[in-house]
Amino acid sequence: MASFYPLQWVTAQVAGDRADVGSLTKPGAEPHDLELTPRDVATVADADLVVYLGGFQTAVDDAVDQEAGNRALDVSKSADLSLRYTPIEEGEQHSEEAGSTDPHFWLDPIRLSHVVGQVTDRLVRLDPTHAGQFRRNAADLRARLRTVDWEYRSGLAHCANPDLVTSHNAFGYLAQRYGLTQVGITGLTPDQEPKPGDLADVTAFVRAHDVRTIYYETLVSPAIAQTVAAETGANTEVLDPIEGLTKDSQGRDYLQVMRANLANLRRGQPCT
Ligand SMILES: [Zn+2]
Repeated sequence: MASFYPLQWVTAQVAGDRADVGSLTKPGAEPHDLELTPRDVATVADADLVVYLGGFQTAVDDAVDQEAGNRALDVSKSADLSLRYTPIEEGEQHSEEAGSTDPHFWLDPIRLSHVVGQVTDRLVRLDPTHAGQFRRNAADLRARLRTVDWEYRSGLAHCANPDLVTSHNAFGYLAQRYGLTQVGITGLTPDQEPKPGDLADVTAFVRAHDVRTIYYETLVSPAIAQTVAAETGANTEVLDPIEGLTKDSQGRDYLQVMRANLANLRRGQPCT
């Protein structure tokens, strides 16, 4: 079992046909504030290995503490969670959460490649007869992640505007890796009627920084982003935090959605 999609994807890539890898966060569900059913907790107890990001999902941390014994693998160390994080929720920043660790390391393909070795070591220990297969799969996966990194590096090398304006502060590691500045804007928050003051703030920022594009998530209404765009002449684009895939995602796996995000970033910033 993995706690959410990117860890499920990495583990499945390395394990190949030697494991069935599920996700505790169901497709389309919000991994932040995940709650687990008794049945989910039972899958943690039954799994040969639980791959999770310690400190990200309290319910998973608790289930692992209680049920997983020494069958859990916390990838937070190799993920290198060095950025701070300010969640934007319900129209205001939660001050008690501001400054906590930014969990969204998987949107930086180099950081994601750093957890591959840790996952591989554990699979080798669980199933030593297939060590060669796991190591070959891991080498292939790292090569594919390096290719995506190279595509981002070259694709975002020459952009007109470095400000990345998003409704979900998920892109800090990506922005840091590729020379962009993430600007999370209160008032672009999903599932919420914007307050007039928020809209004015967003509009003023977009005008002052010559922002060409407002990014919104695949699964939320683009209404607010579109309102701001209509007022300022900016465009809107989708930027997927890849926290879970659904049939509406712009690709069928991590790599495809990363490439769709890159195409949207290149159009949005815009980059030559
Ligand atoms: Zn997130």
